[in-house]
Amino acid sequence: MKTLIEIFPKYNIQTDVKLGNYTNTRVGGPADWCFWPKTQAELKEVVQYANEQNILITVLGNASNLVITEDGLSGLVIFLTEMKQIKALGNHIVVEAGAWIIETAQMAYEYALTGLEWAAGIPGSVGGAVFMNAGAYGGQIDQVLESTDVITADGRLKTYAAAELAFGYRHSLIQETGDIIVSATFVLKPGKRSVIGAKMADYNERRAQKQPLEFPSCGSVFKRPTGYFAGKLIMDAGLQGYQIGDAQVSTKHAGFIVNRGHATGSDYVNLIKHVQTTVYQTFKVDLETEVRILGRK
Ligand SMILES: Cc1cc2nc3c(=O)[nH]c(=O)nc-3n(C[C@H](O)[C@H](O)[C@H](O)COP(=O)(O)OP(=O)(O)OC[C@H]3O[C@@H](n4cnc5c(N)ncnc54)[C@H](O)[C@@H]3O)c2cc1C
Repeated sequence: MKTLIEIFPKYNIQTDVKLGNYTNTRVGGPADWCFWPKTQAELKEVVQYANEQNILITVLGNASNLVITEDGLSGLVIFLTEMKQIKALGNHIVVEAGAWIIETAQMAYEYALTGLEWAAGIPGSVGGAVFMNAGAYGGQIDQVLESTDVITADGRLKTYAAAELAFGYRHSLIQETGDIIVSATFVLKPGKRSVIGAKMADYNERRAQKQPLEFPSCGSVFKRPTGYFAGKLIMDAGLQGYQIGDAQVSTKHAGFIVNRGHATGSDYVNLIKHVQTTVYQTFKVDLETEVRILGRK
């Protein structure tokens, strides 16, 4: 049988790729195949082929909100990081899904458009941010997204208006559809560059003070339980600094689990379970993960 590399010799497809080289936690075993499409046309062609052949597809942006176990991922992993064009058109910013949300916020600043300042320090792609309905400091994707283009599981191009995306706290419809987000259109408001820039600097300063940015991590591991803060519950349960292997509940912000050197996906998974069990036993509060845990199926 021909391999994906033989079928698409001109595309950037590689086999047996160590995913830990690409994840923000630095953990993750091998993927059977990885593909970095440069255009929507390349993406569509390979997705259609993979679907016809029943090859499992996993789409990743900047891999900043997930833990991949050491068994890695079967099938085809698609990284959208090469599809990263950003254009400002009047009050709109039209951006390909692989662009950093940080660079999108930067572009908004350059064009004196307000509404994306909160995203200035989120280390994810636009696709990942829409998928997760990312947010910070009172801002959230659903407040500024006008529409998003996707490639459906069967390889068709489709546009969703933001109102169709059933956005909720760290939730979007795309989490259920299996669509691949290829671009997003944000609608912003004219603002004053100096004010926008000052807000971005303030948010980034607050991030640097509170978050363990000096270590690899996947951001806040748990969703905020109603009426509580995950980090405070974890701290009050005495878990700050608790470590399994090289995965450690951050001593700076207990809502983060950092990789202190050579953590594995299993260290992360075991520590997440330990935190959930301890917090439940102590406070009878269920901590639901915000990060997605992926492994071979
Ligand atoms: C230090 C740090 C700080 C963070 N701060 C915040 C914060 O303040 N607020 C916040 O909300 N998040 C935060 N995060 C989490 C993370 O950066 C965001 O959730 C980000 O939006 C995820 O984007 P990504 O490209 O890294 O997604 P990935 O981690 O690559 O993927 C996350 C999920 O989205 C899916 N996905 C990604 N791209 C696509 C696509 N194009 N089409 C379909 N599905 C896709 C993946 O399959 C996966 O299930 C932080 C993370 C870190 C490490």
